[in-house]
Amino acid sequence: MREEVLEKLGSIVGRGHVLTSKEDLICYSYDAQLIEGLPEAVVEPGSSEEVSMILKLSNKEGFPVVPRGAGTGLSGGSVAVKGGVVLTTHRMNKILEIDKNDLTATVEPGVVTRKLCVEVEKEGLFYPPDPGSYRVSTLGGNVATNAGGPHALKYGVTGDYVLSLEVVLPTGDIITTGASTVKSVSGYNLNSLFIGSEGTLGIVTKIKLKLLPQPEARYTLLASFGDLESSARAVAEIIAAGILPAALEFIDRVTINAVEDYIKAGMPRDADAVLLIETDGHPVAAKEEAEKIIKICEKAGGSVRFAESRVERERLWKARRAALPALSRIRPTTLLEDATVPRSRVPDMVAEIKRIAQKHGVIIGIFGHAGDGNLHPTILLDIRDPGEKKRMEEAMEEIFSAALKLGGTLSGEHGIGVAKARFLEKEVGKEGIEVMKKIKRALDPNNVLNPGKIFL
Ligand SMILES: Cc1cc2nc3c(=O)[nH]c(=O)nc-3n(C[C@H](O)[C@H](O)[C@H](O)COP(=O)(O)OP(=O)(O)OC[C@H]3O[C@@H](n4cnc5c(N)ncnc54)[C@H](O)[C@@H]3O)c2cc1C
Repeated sequence: MREEVLEKLGSIVGRGHVLTSKEDLICYSYDAQLIEGLPEAVVEPGSSEEVSMILKLSNKEGFPVVPRGAGTGLSGGSVAVKGGVVLTTHRMNKILEIDKNDLTATVEPGVVTRKLCVEVEKEGLFYPPDPGSYRVSTLGGNVATNAGGPHALKYGVTGDYVLSLEVVLPTGDIITTGASTVKSVSGYNLNSLFIGSEGTLGIVTKIKLKLLPQPEARYTLLASFGDLESSARAVAEIIAAGILPAALEFIDRVTINAVEDYIKAGMPRDADAVLLIETDGHPVAAKEEAEKIIKICEKAGGSVRFAESRVERERLWKARRAALPALSRIRPTTLLEDATVPRSRVPDMVAEIKRIAQKHGVIIGIFGHAGDGNLHPTILLDIRDPGEKKRMEEAMEEIFSAALKLGGTLSGEHGIGVAKARFLEKEVGKEGIEVMKKIKRALDPNNVLNPGKIFL
């Protein structure tokens, strides 16, 4: 990048907030996937106005701008695959308001997800979207990927909590979408356009979120199964019985043992699979629901225990959240996917993943949001071995095809980014991609904002 352009960026954000050393650029050259791309510079704006000026400059000078929150994304979305600058939101990290009367919170995009959860809990309120990465991920990144978490089953995903957004468009214009009210049909639903758009249509600079009251009671259960199929059947039967637990998470034997080696959470190493289940709400209703779930799990061949204390509950959740880091200790490379199927097809999908692992001779750990049909088959390999890499690619492609064949989708929550761009046409067709490209061109005529993502 020309020195003159770096100077102009410096005059917008302050010279100390333009990073160009090789060490800094390398830190911003990857996310939690396997995709890499070295940016030419990293800029750290402190306000919407600065973001706007950066985008105006990028249109004038013709360099790409790649928005980035915490870089925990799992599709390469925040990686500068076409060069240009990475724009990080970490200086825009304030909770601007928690409004107990209207049950809303207004935040800047760089606020870490868990920080909001903790702050609203102090007020007796609840912000449910809780991706596994919530100790690190940002709310801006959550909006851009429409992130979900274990609570999505009952409470929905990030997009279900967005009331209004301030967005800097690729041209540098600043707009506000949605409204502060719980409902609004004034014109097109522009919130939905930007939610899940993976930083390709605009940079989110302010977010107004809906909050809920804290549930009065929570019951956490751990159900262990001697075989995978029974656990998957229990998931399908819980949903079919009309029960919507607050969370219904699945962890297979490979992952259980990886987690136990990592943090010793007290999960049964000899189980083929466990389900971590939570019910919440009015104490009587939540208890009743938990009891019905126990009966279903036992009928499917499982044995179930309650978490007896808050400490035990937290330990089990810590175990679930440690699944990916624990698996990543086994082999040098982990490739995690999030192909999702209708919930009734979870048993079929689990069987397919097992078959594919065997066929290609790869180790696949499976965990994930089973209640949403959203499993995370995670291939463990050494990507430096060309043979293993090839087998991994073939296995992953087959997993995507299996999910689509079962009526599912390529991505339940991580987005398409770079990782799945070449498969998108299989799901949405040529026409679907053409509509997306038209929207992109209308908002970003010079293709400066996060180019090379979602479609090729
Ligand atoms: C251990 C682990 C567990 C995870 N568990 C879950 C899970 O349970 N559920 C889930 O949904 N995901 C999960 N993820 C994936 C990831 O954490 C989410 O996608 C998260 O929303 C990304 O947030 P981030 O701040 O890290 O965004 P980044 O990775 O920095 O960026 C993600 C995308 O958002 C764009 N972006 C970032 N900020 C903005 C902004 N302000 N405006 C516009 N675009 C922006 C980027 O350009 C990129 O395309 C997990 C990841 C890890 C590593």
